[in-house]
Amino acid sequence: MRGPHRPAAVDARRSGKVFLVGAGPGDPDLLTVKALRVIEQADLVLCDRLVSEEIRALIPAETPVRCVGKSSGNHSVAQPDLNSMLIEEARRGLRVCRLKGGDPFVFGRGGEEMLSLRQAGVEVEVVPGITAALGASAYAGTPLTHRGLSQAVTLITGHGAQSLDVNWQALAALDHTLVFYMGLGELETIQTQLLANGAGSDTPAALIERATTPDQRTVTGSLDQLSRLARWYQVESPTLIVIGKVVGLTEELHWFGGLLPEQLDEMTA
Ligand code: SAH
Repeated sequence: MRGPHRPAAVDARRSGKVFLVGAGPGDPDLLTVKALRVIEQADLVLCDRLVSEEIRALIPAETPVRCVGKSSGNHSVAQPDLNSMLIEEARRGLRVCRLKGGDPFVFGRGGEEMLSLRQAGVEVEVVPGITAALGASAYAGTPLTHRGLSQAVTLITGHGAQSLDVNWQALAALDHTLVFYMGLGELETIQTQLLANGAGSDTPAALIERATTPDQRTVTGSLDQLSRLARWYQVESPTLIVIGKVVGLTEELHWFGGLLPEQLDEMTA
């Protein structure tokens, strides 16, 4: 169902537009129909590194693609430059697809980009994507809520957790599912702070690496083992940290990718 492709010719009569598009967590089948349509009809695609190869392969060969960031916190193009680039290309009359991992409005800087585009008078449309927490929970078999186990879920950025003004006491007291994005580099802090503020050391916890891709791995254990587990299994980014009783269901509900057993007796501290 491929639409006709518009060549990247500059058309001064046509006003450009930026589409902030969520590409989902990795599996190309998790793209929305709308996201695929925008990708196919764009004059230019500006792509995050987090967007999987398989999804990039869906961009028509003749469409110019620019990789503009960001991989585990490294930004190849600074955000202000990126905002200017989006404004400039839209003003040339192009339909620009700004393709982001997961959902644009969940730790995706979509709000920042939209504000700057709006201030410049550029038309913007947002296409939601499946955020990593939803993709990872579904594919790992870890429901984010479950009657009797968790009545709510909190999505948190772990990036800069040490310095950020995180209310650890409140988080530890919630007693529902916590999902940390960008938390691998701060795993020690997350673990220590939650425990120090009263979370149970035996609270089930999981690391879900490269969720929804063929390389997905899920490591489960308890909160007090998290950073040791990450070291032992050499868990890499992108990884989500899920903490809460719902992780207790994972062993039974797991259906995709690898589920790594605890090997604590073998692990060095
Ligand atoms: N906008 C994105 C999040 C970008 S922040 C979204 O809605 O999903 C980047 C973080 O997302 C990573 O550090 C990681 O914690 C998480 N992440 C993204 N894709 C992931 C994947 N396939 N598996 C596990 N975590 C992922």
